[in-house]
Amino acid sequence: MLEKLESIKEEGLKKISEITKTEELDIVRKELTGKNSELVFIMTNMSSLSVEEKKSVGMKTTEIKASFENALKEKEEKLIDSMSVLDTPLDTTIPGSSVQTGSLHPITQMCYDLNDAFASLGFEVYSENDISSEKFAFDNLNFAPDHPARQSMDTFWLQGTEEKSGTERLCLRPHLTGGSVRYLMAHGAPARFVYPGRVYRNETTDARHERAFFQYEALIVDKDISFSSGMVMIQTILEKVFGRKINVRMREGFFPFTEPGYEIDMECLVCGGKGCKVCNHNGWIEVMPGGVIHPNVLKSAGLDPEIWTGFYINIGLDRLVMMRYGVDDVRLFHSTDLRFLKEFK
Ligand SMILES: [Zn+2]
Repeated sequence: MLEKLESIKEEGLKKISEITKTEELDIVRKELTGKNSELVFIMTNMSSLSVEEKKSVGMKTTEIKASFENALKEKEEKLIDSMSVLDTPLDTTIPGSSVQTGSLHPITQMCYDLNDAFASLGFEVYSENDISSEKFAFDNLNFAPDHPARQSMDTFWLQGTEEKSGTERLCLRPHLTGGSVRYLMAHGAPARFVYPGRVYRNETTDARHERAFFQYEALIVDKDISFSSGMVMIQTILEKVFGRKINVRMREGFFPFTEPGYEIDMECLVCGGKGCKVCNHNGWIEVMPGGVIHPNVLKSAGLDPEIWTGFYINIGLDRLVMMRYGVDDVRLFHSTDLRFLKEFK
């Protein structure tokens, strides 16, 4: 019996010495001293032995158990020690690897800059869902029932709602202006707020057009809004964005929701007014429509046009960013090309 115990000890210690990972320690411990181990089996089945044998076997098994525990403990310390030692010598002259950091998309950055600029003028920042309805995208905004923008050629209508009308006919918002009525319905007048967001048009993409792009709309409604306060708003924004005075021109423009409406152009900063593909070779770029809010739109929002007037501008964020950085293709912004985005870090 003692010989058998001796071989159990030898084999056990050999097993412990062969352990190479800390995870194996518990497995081997269980195998050698656990409930189902040979050692414990002997310890619990000594009834047939004489008193003398019981004594010597008992002492031997206790000794073996202790030696296993000691060997396991030693092994554990050794393994932990070796884990903190580097396999290869440390070379402090090797250049470090830089941590990859993200950055804001240039359109997001522009949006934040505008939010700051407008907040300093006392405007609230408002946002709403990308999905709108015929009621908010067209009806409320004085679009004629047969206006071409209502056709699926221009607007992405949501499947299954095409045959419906009003708030039941759903679309991806083709512009942000619908949000103005929603805001005014909820908050009333006077009001001054901005609402940035992505809008969707069913159109062919080229260097100047994308199917989804970002707009930034600003609106003031009060009892006495003049054309000049709208102009001040435009100048302030452009100056804030470009850090200097920007040449602007206003042309008459027709939008169902304005009366009168304007097309606001700024000089093309990509070519400095000489003409390039961004400005369609005429030196000016259309950055925003704007104008005095049409009385019918105020009525849709529950406001009396005899009392309230308003001025709104709608900035094409993508185009503004193109101007700010001299980018000549709008599609790059949505290309998710990291090489392009890294330019703005
Ligand atoms: Zn140009």
